[in-house]
Amino acid sequence: MIEAREIYHRYDKNSGDVLSDINFTINRGEFVFFVGPSGAGKTTLFKMIIQEIVPQRGLMKVFGQDLGRLPRYRVPYLRRNIGMVFQDFRLLDERTAFDNIAFAMRVTGASTREIRRQVPYVLDLVGLPDKSGARVCDLSGGEQQRIGLARAIINRPAMIIADEPTGNLDPETSYEIMNILRTINIRGTTVLVATHNREIVDRLQKRVIHLERGRLTVDEEKGVYAGAL
Ligand code: ADP
Repeated sequence: MIEAREIYHRYDKNSGDVLSDINFTINRGEFVFFVGPSGAGKTTLFKMIIQEIVPQRGLMKVFGQDLGRLPRYRVPYLRRNIGMVFQDFRLLDERTAFDNIAFAMRVTGASTREIRRQVPYVLDLVGLPDKSGARVCDLSGGEQQRIGLARAIINRPAMIIADEPTGNLDPETSYEIMNILRTINIRGTTVLVATHNREIVDRLQKRVIHLERGRLTVDEEKGVYAGAL
């Protein structure tokens, strides 16, 4: 599903390599944590996967396509297959939960009928069946991130990329959010999560890729955050 080979990247010639000799393969259906200190290169790597940044050297293949050879007009099709979840939620605060999720469907040309059918289904999946009409600004942080998850999965993407999805949440809420990601994964979606949350990484026993100053230092099945130090 993702193949990274000998990836090197620097943003400008004064900075050092932000990513250096990165190699990994992620198969369909995996759940992978990307851990490591701030500035290690996790976000840069995610931006490469969604084709926001092109690596200066190396190969990045996503869904079997070499992104270095992907024509620009194909990029929206690639992104449609990837649901994004952000630390700061990136929702339309004044709009309802329904509107936020429906909007992501509308841009793909979905009919009103499909939208009315699908939105309650995903709200149920994230545990907020009664919040459809609630404005986002009236919801708690945890509820807002659940809306973020619902929006990310509404178009049934093959993969979810979550960049610090629990960075603004308390430990219990964080665990609930990770559990929803785990459920989404069990239903067949590949899930990549960048996180600083040691406790959750250790508890969930998933594959852990550890980045340290742009280098991949550990890649282990059923890894623990502590084990990477
Ligand atoms: P992480 O997500 O692990 O915190 P990032 O990928 O955001 O790491 O950043 C990796 C490094 O790249 C950091 O040193 C950061 O300052 C640098 N960096 C990120 N974005 C840019 C940019 N647009 N221009 C220059 N340097 C950047």
